Amino acid sequence: MTKWGFYEAMRPTEIEAILENNPIVFLPWGALEYHGQHNPIGLDSIKAHHLCIDLAKQVGGLVMPAVNLAANLIKSYPGHGFKKHSIEFSEQLIKTICEEYLGQLAEQDVKIIVLLSGHAGEPHLQILKDVAAEFNKKNPDKFCWTFAEFEIVPDSLLVANHSALGETSLQLHYAENTVDLSVLPKDRPITLQLDAVSGEDPRSATASKGGQIAKVFVENATIEIQRLIKKYKSE
Ligand SMILES: [Zn+2]
Repeated sequence: MTKWGFYEAMRPTEIEAILENNPIVFLPWGALEYHGQHNPIGLDSIKAHHLCIDLAKQVGGLVMPAVNLAANLIKSYPGHGFKKHSIEFSEQLIKTICEEYLGQLAEQDVKIIVLLSGHAGEPHLQILKDVAAEFNKKNPDKFCWTFAEFEIVPDSLLVANHSALGETSLQLHYAENTVDLSVLPKDRPITLQLDAVSGEDPRSATASKGGQIAKVFVENATIEIQRLIKKYKSE
């Protein structure tokens, strides 16, 4: 039976009942980062959290609160002046926090950790992957799958982007009232320098596009998680 729940909202017996059949924990890893004038600061966290919830509904497991801590934000892109509206942490701190999360999740009855990174700054994403690789070496009976949403969706639907068509569509899909496309300029191209957008023009973003991306993401991630469950559940 597919059972899922929010980790922070459950009592110990409820947590154990879920892990018994679905020993999966989802760890959405986001950021507080300037996403232009049209999107909220927590886009990466909101995106990762909702994608994890959609996945948990399919395969069961516990959804952790989003981690709102990230390194390598637009705040420190060389040559850009986006100093406000981001809270950036050091790479070393991200590494330590990730190690402590995974290390303590390993002490619980968890077999699979799905670490979904909503923020793809580098080396932030690579740090999370490196910590997971270490974890997997140390815990051969468990597996931490660490990735960003665009890695498992065809390029025709979604590529890595910052507050562009893909992210804005996902944000519209999951939290429409947090987006304001009307603040984007109407008379000139969208640029990274002026609008903090990297990728395709977000002015054509729609909730239904976001819904399509989310659907394909969930389908593809479900296949992978089911493969991991088969391999690790009984170990
Ligand atoms: Zn983002």
